[in-house]
Amino acid sequence: MPELPEVETIARGLAPRLRGRRVESVWGSGQRLHLRRKVDLAGLRAVTVGHAIGAVRRLGKFILIDVGGDGDSGVLVHLGMTGRLRVEAATAPRAPHTHVAFRLAGGDELRFVDPRRFGWVQPGRPFTASPALARLGPDPLTALDAAALAAALTGVRASIKSFLMDQRRVAGLGNIYVAEALFRAGIHPAAAAGRTRGRAAELLTAIRAALEGGIARRGTTLRDYVDADGRRGENAQALLVYGRAGEPCGRCGARIKRRVDGGRSTFFCPGCQRR
Ligand SMILES: [Zn+2]
Repeated sequence: MPELPEVETIARGLAPRLRGRRVESVWGSGQRLHLRRKVDLAGLRAVTVGHAIGAVRRLGKFILIDVGGDGDSGVLVHLGMTGRLRVEAATAPRAPHTHVAFRLAGGDELRFVDPRRFGWVQPGRPFTASPALARLGPDPLTALDAAALAAALTGVRASIKSFLMDQRRVAGLGNIYVAEALFRAGIHPAAAAGRTRGRAAELLTAIRAALEGGIARRGTTLRDYVDADGRRGENAQALLVYGRAGEPCGRCGARIKRRVDGGRSTFFCPGCQRR
């Protein structure tokens, strides 16, 4: 699943292609997307048709495509597991699993393609009224500071891994970057979140380093993820623990371990991340 660095990379790639372009029409496949919800085509048309696209932004793992110039309306996209946004000539055949297409003045289409349909596209009118965004915690690159993180950690008995995965606590992290951040901070993933409170500043520094490294290398491609140009990201080679079970830790030489909790893998170094 794309996490913050992958979504940021896609938003940055789309922005120059979409900015200033007017939406002429909206097409939908009629298939239901995430949670078997229908796409609100009437709502998407109402908010986009006849208006120009402004900024393309990221909040957590969401992409916000500003339309109409008021800064709070447009199209809200979540890529789910396999969602992609592509800008292609309207005359090019739509790929299989294309579910929404915005026809742009000048002859291109912005297309949402999603084979597994865990993603979704919906109108933001306004974005601030969207329940998905209202539940979102602070963005670790732009809105979170160490004092706020320490306050949020206070008294939390759940593991630090589940705390960081919870989008209501911190927006944008998933399995890969949580593993990388906890390794960088030297914190065991199963440690009670509340007990890491005194290390909030180091933890935030580690989270940012993991995310910024991911952005600098245009995201982590394990299987499906590609950027807005269809290119694979280069961060997989730079991962320190994720996907490296059995390999020696680059810091201490101990074998990196993998645990499975609730069907999800957790990678950590038993030497550097003691409980
Ligand atoms: Zn180690």
